[in-house]
Amino acid sequence: MSAAVVIGAGFAGLSAALRLAESGVPVRLLEAGRRLGGRASSFEDPRSDTELDWGPHLFMAANPALRSFLDRAGAGPLLRFPPSLDIGFRDSSPLPRGGGLRLARLAFPARGGRLGQAAALLRWGGPGLRTRLGIARGLSRMLAGEGTGGSVAGLLDSLGQGEGPRAWFWEPFARVVREALGAGPGGASLAVPPAPLGPFWAERAGAAIERRGGEVRRGAAVRRIAVEGGSVRGVGLGDGEFLEAAVAVPAVPPPALLGLLPERCRGEAPFRELGRLRPPPIASAYLWLDGSSPGPPFEALVGEPWHWLFRLYGSGGPLCLLAGGRDSVAALPRGEAEASARGAAGRLLPGRKVARALLVRERAATWANGWEEQVFRPAAETPVRGLFLAGDWTATGLPATAEGAVRSGEGAAQAALGFLGGGRRTSRSSGGG
Ligand SMILES: Cc1cc2nc3c(=O)[nH]c(=O)nc-3n(C[C@H](O)[C@H](O)[C@H](O)COP(=O)(O)OP(=O)(O)OC[C@H]3O[C@@H](n4cnc5c(N)ncnc54)[C@H](O)[C@@H]3O)c2cc1C
Repeated sequence: MSAAVVIGAGFAGLSAALRLAESGVPVRLLEAGRRLGGRASSFEDPRSDTELDWGPHLFMAANPALRSFLDRAGAGPLLRFPPSLDIGFRDSSPLPRGGGLRLARLAFPARGGRLGQAAALLRWGGPGLRTRLGIARGLSRMLAGEGTGGSVAGLLDSLGQGEGPRAWFWEPFARVVREALGAGPGGASLAVPPAPLGPFWAERAGAAIERRGGEVRRGAAVRRIAVEGGSVRGVGLGDGEFLEAAVAVPAVPPPALLGLLPERCRGEAPFRELGRLRPPPIASAYLWLDGSSPGPPFEALVGEPWHWLFRLYGSGGPLCLLAGGRDSVAALPRGEAEASARGAAGRLLPGRKVARALLVRERAATWANGWEEQVFRPAAETPVRGLFLAGDWTATGLPATAEGAVRSGEGAAQAALGFLGGGRRTSRSSGGG
């Protein structure tokens, strides 16, 4: 018997299992799919014979939990953060003096403190001076810990963002920006992985768990979590096998969790509210062009239905446009979204022809980011003894991101360690992992 089973091998499950294995707890990680990484994974595209991400990801230098996890998994040293926040903007919106494409770079200096940040904003060739001044003012107030009163509050007021939206939505986002920029421009820099997501981080994390005595099983869909007398007894798999365990850490999205729980638990807090959590979609459009289109690894798009443009894993591969949100192009029927991506490529990369387009879509991309949903995000601890929740949608205080998912995995593992007696009562030789 393993002391703990972790269900689902996304950022949350892999980080929980790694922490438990590092603490000497015999742990089994059970993943329904053949690949590790969950939403931050990749797939084989047979036509181009390349591995592509289900959606490109950006990692932030100011994400302490994620970076510590990637380091321990062996992927961290391969992630190259630029020395400061440096973002290219590609603007296809009509200019006041006729059409055209504007390219503008916002590059914060690696040194120079707040003054340097303000100077970089003012030098930025993107929006007009008034907008740049407004951003500089808002940012400096946010970094100073302000969030109410004055113009920021005025803006939120004018958008109908009262006390609830502020406390539950804008404040967590402000915290992310503060954590990022407050650490200096170097802390705010963004990196794209050097290789497809699956092999880059998830396979390495799986191997790190196995090196520490844990077991990682693929194609192991959990059908139910067995609870007797208010305590976890183990989990039942799709093929009928039953695995005994004193601790279960489901790190799966809310609908999957509800399917695993005993009927009587589903009606109890906090589980009965999970149906209220809603995920918006994200679409990624891979575009193979008839020639190269050099540029930075990612650019923010202005005046476009697509939000980001990625050049992944160096030159030669396809470009990728990404958009997310219920009202975005990501929610359109496939044909329309693909046509929109081809149209955007025509505007953003004049002179290039799209030889092939491939649309991939995650319909449930990021859970529980709406302010009204925040109150329903559950903590790691549950009323069931031995059951600890993880996932980007749990109450991490952060939006649903890789950093939030890793913090949730850490939190669930720490709670499980407390329950098991800090791992002292268990040893690797006692369980087979
Ligand atoms: C296109 C896209 C782009 C994104 N971009 C970014 C970004 O740039 N930066 C960022 O920080 N975040 C980004 N995110 C968000 C980030 O990917 C997620 O927050 C994070 O991956 C969620 O991890 P998780 O472990 O909570 O869940 P998941 O990754 O969903 O993992 C859950 C796992 O559980 C498995 N599972 C489900 N049911 C069972 C079962 N019954 N038995 C066994 N296994 C089961 C699933 O197969 C899956 O592997 C993006 C998300 C998407 C979709």
